Amino acid sequence: MIIAIPKEILPGENRVACTPDVASKLIKSGYEVHIQKDAGLNAGFKDEQYVKAGAKVIDSVEQLFSSADIVLKVQKPTEDEIKKLKKGSLLISFVYALHYPEIAKFCAENGIDLIAMDMVPRTTLAQKMDALSSQANIAGYKSVILAANHLGKIFPLMMTAAGTISPAKVVIMGAGVAGLQALGTAKRLGAVVEVSDIRPSAKEEVQSLGGKFIEVETTENMQDERGYAKQASEEFLKKQKELIFKHVTEADIVITTALVPGKKAPVLITEEMIKNMKPGSVVLDMAVEFGGNCEISEPGKTVKKYDVTIIGEPNLPSLVPTHSSEMYAKNLLALIQHIGKNGQVELKLEDEIVKGCLISRNGEVINDRIKELLK
Ligand code: NAD
Repeated sequence: MIIAIPKEILPGENRVACTPDVASKLIKSGYEVHIQKDAGLNAGFKDEQYVKAGAKVIDSVEQLFSSADIVLKVQKPTEDEIKKLKKGSLLISFVYALHYPEIAKFCAENGIDLIAMDMVPRTTLAQKMDALSSQANIAGYKSVILAANHLGKIFPLMMTAAGTISPAKVVIMGAGVAGLQALGTAKRLGAVVEVSDIRPSAKEEVQSLGGKFIEVETTENMQDERGYAKQASEEFLKKQKELIFKHVTEADIVITTALVPGKKAPVLITEEMIKNMKPGSVVLDMAVEFGGNCEISEPGKTVKKYDVTIIGEPNLPSLVPTHSSEMYAKNLLALIQHIGKNGQVELKLEDEIVKGCLISRNGEVINDRIKELLK
């Protein structure tokens, strides 16, 4: 089978779905790999490296798409990209189909089988394929570096002849993969870190990484059977906002990562809180693509409001494209090795991983949650 990797077309997307190292492993597994000219350049990988790995570089995107049996992408596909694909081919990409169900429908209508990397079940067996985690780890790290860069202060406690500098205070909303990585990164730089989450299991994880946990007391069950956060009630969110007000307004940096799968992100940082923050403080809203945790963040923009810098960066992994591409490509390789053999992929619906992430098949949307959304 031919596996093709196009250059990502979303402005600002620097990642690529396959590295030369992974291309070489795919070829060894029996696939032919075609890559669009300069597809890896923004992530630090030259065409020559892919050629050395055994891949073929193709100039025309039409030729690349129409000859491929499998296409690997990072960003959710556009209608124009889907239309270029060969009928019956398999597209593997991030899709976020619970937010964008029409993509699954369009693939089905065009006879394209679609695997959403964001729907790979997060089981032990599928850990190597967990692209949500690999990219969230990078995003968590970069969020701290980016916010620190906008802060007119240093992070660590410093005792010098010129006086003592107190450590920076960082507040993180959401202790999932990204939030915990942000906590670890901010701690390593010397900050005092406070973290809030609504899943009870987050408390121990935060404390084990040296963070202080901001706990909202409730009798509501905030976690679903898969371990994800449930959508909090209005009453809960009101109580949470009251509790975090003091923590947020005393912080130098606030990083928000709070998401509820398939739902709009909860608003946690209000305009009123920002008005009361110290001048020069920084808010970074990682949930900005899904509605935002901060009431006044703007997608793709860094703005200054009430003397506070508000960063609405929707794609932090793309700012660290070499490592995020390396990790994502390895996630894809693990998935292809799971579903394929000797250069051929076979999609078996009885397989738990395939069942979780294959959302369109043989002209039909087959995922129940997405079918429901499309009704
Ligand atoms: P996510 O990106 O969906 O959400 C980020 C965090 O926001 C979550 O911790 C969530 O609880 C939190 N959140 C939601 N509403 C909030 C609110 N109002 N206030 C504060 N926080 C709020 O989550 P994720 O990073 O993808 O991970 C979710 C869970 O899945 C975590 O428990 C994670 O450890 C787990 N996980 C398990 C595996 C596995 O292999 N079993 C792999 C990866 C992740």
